[in-house]
Amino acid sequence: MPTPSLSQRRYEAVIGLEVHAQLRTRTKAFCGCLTAYGAPPNTQVCPVCLGLPGALPVLNGEAVRLAVRAALALSCGLRTTSRFARKNYFYPDLPKGYQISQYDEPLSDRGHLVIDLPGAPGATRRVGITRVHMEEDAGKSVHHAEVSVVDLNRSGVPLVEIVGDPDLRSAAEAAEYLRTLRDVLMFAGVSDGNLEEGSFRCDANVSLRPEGEARLGTRVELKNINSFRFVEKAIGHEIARQGAVLEGGGRVVQETRGWNDKEGTSASLRSKEEAQDYRYFPDPDLPPLVLGEAFVASVQATQPELPRAKRERFTAGMGLSPYAAQVLTAHPRLAAFFEEAATLHGQAVKVANFVQSEVLRDVVTHGLHARIPVSPRQVAELLKLVDAGVISGKQAKGVYARMVGTDRTPEQVVAELGLAQVSDVGAIEAACRRVIDDNPRQAEALRAGKASLMGFLVGQVMKQTQGSANPRLVNDVLGRLLGL
Ligand code: ADP
Ligand code: MG
Ligand code: ZN
Repeated sequence: MPTPSLSQRRYEAVIGLEVHAQLRTRTKAFCGCLTAYGAPPNTQVCPVCLGLPGALPVLNGEAVRLAVRAALALSCGLRTTSRFARKNYFYPDLPKGYQISQYDEPLSDRGHLVIDLPGAPGATRRVGITRVHMEEDAGKSVHHAEVSVVDLNRSGVPLVEIVGDPDLRSAAEAAEYLRTLRDVLMFAGVSDGNLEEGSFRCDANVSLRPEGEARLGTRVELKNINSFRFVEKAIGHEIARQGAVLEGGGRVVQETRGWNDKEGTSASLRSKEEAQDYRYFPDPDLPPLVLGEAFVASVQATQPELPRAKRERFTAGMGLSPYAAQVLTAHPRLAAFFEEAATLHGQAVKVANFVQSEVLRDVVTHGLHARIPVSPRQVAELLKLVDAGVISGKQAKGVYARMVGTDRTPEQVVAELGLAQVSDVGAIEAACRRVIDDNPRQAEALRAGKASLMGFLVGQVMKQTQGSANPRLVNDVLGRLLGL
């Protein structure tokens, strides 16, 4: 973040984001081609998404369902009838010469998203959502030194565009909004929120205005922001750039700029005068999209729990700390894992602690979007072995490390490692007797009331058993043998 300049004290930044999120469908928006990421170039294409003459689009019902979920998750009003329009422009990765989008009759509008305000613990802001509409993605141009090539696997992949009101006031707020929006869409099951794979992208509109001014200033649109780190840097840079222009007595010109993260700067892509006229018109190949009451009701009835509600339930309902609730809702899969393990085990806080200290390490190593390499049942059963005194908490970590990535039960691993003997009261008792015999003076003093010697004797037993005995059990057995 650039340090605030003089101008930022006299000017207020205003930011509105336009976000594109890929809908998690198996097939494309208007044809049956697969959407799987990482396939060899141009292997997931057909006459429809290649834009061949005469090919006709057929709307994917699952894409509509997910777009409606997105709209509901953002408290938007749904339009019973919306319409697809053609957005016309020429680009090599757009074989039809137009993109199917929604224009003046979007799927939904007027919603909001509640975000935490950075740097103000407990404070929140309701950011307005202008509209949520459906559209299709274009292909991808790949530029080499001599030639550029086009991969059309993404052509026709279903997206929602989420246009936000200009309600954000700093680069940090914009980043927080983006993270919150990504989480909401992930938990709603709408999008996998994977920025690296390009399934979540954002353009940022930035302007400045004098403090206290109600009218909006001239805005600049920043393109190519494809990581959370970039968002904050790119917007911070743009605020500082506009601040310097205004401070120098100049005027901000309305333009589109591209962010170059390598150089940490932006450059003008086109000015307002060069802005495209997309010549939108209703797509004659697609009938209006009419949402039936029963359809909307079925989506509503199966709407998943959103992160804010989940965190509230984890803290108020299950007794977790706000921090633990935050960590465990980093990804829907992690939250579901924790909840299932907590249900199987019965004590949510214990499970939360273990998931945070052990499971999370593997989640981070493999990436948040990967499958968790252990099952909730394995973790729940492992913690039950600790509860039953079969193994110590410390040993549980070792057992976990052996169990992870396998489908072995914790009991199997405990047996393999020869740890089960620690629960064997007979073995512990034998070790305790030996220690009492070897340390008659200390044993006598303890019996006579010198309680601090208990630690010494427990330590001796632990030494004899090479640390594998359950200290709580050792305590009990020693007490019993000494008649305490
Ligand atoms: P367009 O259709 O040209 O992209 P819109 O008016 O729909 O323009 O606005 C797009 C985005 O720009 C929205 O997210 C909106 O909040 C934001 N925006 C509009 N005006 C401003 C402004 N003056 N400063 C900052 N953001 C703005
Ligand atoms: Mg725009
Ligand atoms: Zn296709």
